[in-house]
Amino acid sequence: MAENNAFVVIGAGLIGICTALELTHRGCKVTLIDSGKPGRGASFGNAGFIASELVDPLSTPDTIRKAMPMLVNPHGALSIPLRNLHRSLPWMVRFAFSARSQAVARGRDALAQLLTTAVPAWQALLDRERLSNHLHRSHYMRVWERAQGKAAALAERNFYNDWGIEAQFAEREQVSALEPALDGQISHAVLLPNAHRLSDPYQVSQLLFKRFQERGGQFLQGHVESLRPNEHGVQLAVSGSKQLFDKAIICTGAHSSELLRSLNVTVPLMAERGYHLNLPSVKNLITGPICSAERNVFISPLQDGLRIVGFSELGGVTLPENPARYETLKHHLGALLPQTKPHLEQASRWMGMRPTLPDSLPVIDSLPHAPCIGFAFGHQHAGITLAATTSQLIADRMTKGVDAMNMTPFRINRF
Ligand SMILES: Cc1cc2nc3c(=O)[nH]c(=O)nc-3n(C[C@H](O)[C@H](O)[C@H](O)COP(=O)(O)OP(=O)(O)OC[C@H]3O[C@@H](n4cnc5c(N)ncnc54)[C@H](O)[C@@H]3O)c2cc1C
Repeated sequence: MAENNAFVVIGAGLIGICTALELTHRGCKVTLIDSGKPGRGASFGNAGFIASELVDPLSTPDTIRKAMPMLVNPHGALSIPLRNLHRSLPWMVRFAFSARSQAVARGRDALAQLLTTAVPAWQALLDRERLSNHLHRSHYMRVWERAQGKAAALAERNFYNDWGIEAQFAEREQVSALEPALDGQISHAVLLPNAHRLSDPYQVSQLLFKRFQERGGQFLQGHVESLRPNEHGVQLAVSGSKQLFDKAIICTGAHSSELLRSLNVTVPLMAERGYHLNLPSVKNLITGPICSAERNVFISPLQDGLRIVGFSELGGVTLPENPARYETLKHHLGALLPQTKPHLEQASRWMGMRPTLPDSLPVIDSLPHAPCIGFAFGHQHAGITLAATTSQLIADRMTKGVDAMNMTPFRINRF
């Protein structure tokens, strides 16, 4: 075993679990710390989709143009709670600034670089852990109910093809043939025939966490209050006690800026909140994930039932959830798949916080003046997609000091 390899990974979401597991695989001694139970943060209730096609940053001229109609629509996907405006306003200014054409072009290159590795990285990880049956390949459709959306769908198909992503335009009949449950609702779609998803993101996180423990990884439940580099390594204050490790990696998702303050590092991170309804009694209604381009909701057929997710609520980490969001999700699901209506009242509810930076890029880096501290957070809507990729990249940096790709776009000090 190499020297200086006692790692602490802070945050047991899917990014932290994959990172901790990767480090144990490389022979490191790893402690994984979380203030709660592993996998119960944003990694719990997401749609489990491997979104390799999310090459566009969230901030583009098109997103900015659509923001106002979404805000005024009572069932719109965007919400800016007034009680968090003092935090969301500066973030939104940076977000709007990221919609400049040069910034969008840079963002696309950086995201594409990561996203092309997402499926191979998941396949390699799950094969190695003998869990490959938890990665499913299926079609994925972005659907439109109104025929006016044909030009938008064609433009989207062309965009995907330009980025090397297989995508086709599908008329109503083809959509109905692939997903009979949508019959009559849909005008047309963009069909991605080779998409991937996890069987259930929480279940996968638990299986990977178990593998981590089987490899000798330690889990400690505790809240990390601060961390500081010193001549011996990194000192953590965890739930009132002090702990020393050789190296630390911060994987604390939407909560990362709180911890970074103890390192005098500031990042403009937003907790971009999303909601889900899960219908355990609805199984096999659809065969692949479906996203409504007009309603901005995503429906995923998971192992434990049908899940609808949606919303971009710039609510930060402290506000309570807004129950009205669940009514909106019911409204959209009932309209798209009327067969679900009898099951809507029994659906389980969940709100989670996407860690989103204004340029839509994660931070995957080490601290320039103290490289014993690493970062892997800020994966916005693609943290499940990029968990396996990120774990490789941050483990390469922290164990070997090498990078497998150009990591400049993901620097901690880029803001
Ligand atoms: C509705 C919704 C749908 C989504 N769908 C998808 C999808 O289909 N595909 C996709 O790729 N992504 C999706 N995402 C995004 C994805 O869920 C996130 O990007 C991802 O889960 C982030 O993982 P993480 O490990 O960084 O954070 P988290 O899972 O939130 O984990 C962070 C962990 O850090 C812990 N923590 C924080 N601070 C401390 C501290 N000081 N001390 C100790 N522990 C701490 C927390 O308790 C938590 O367990 C979706 C998100 C939402 C909300």
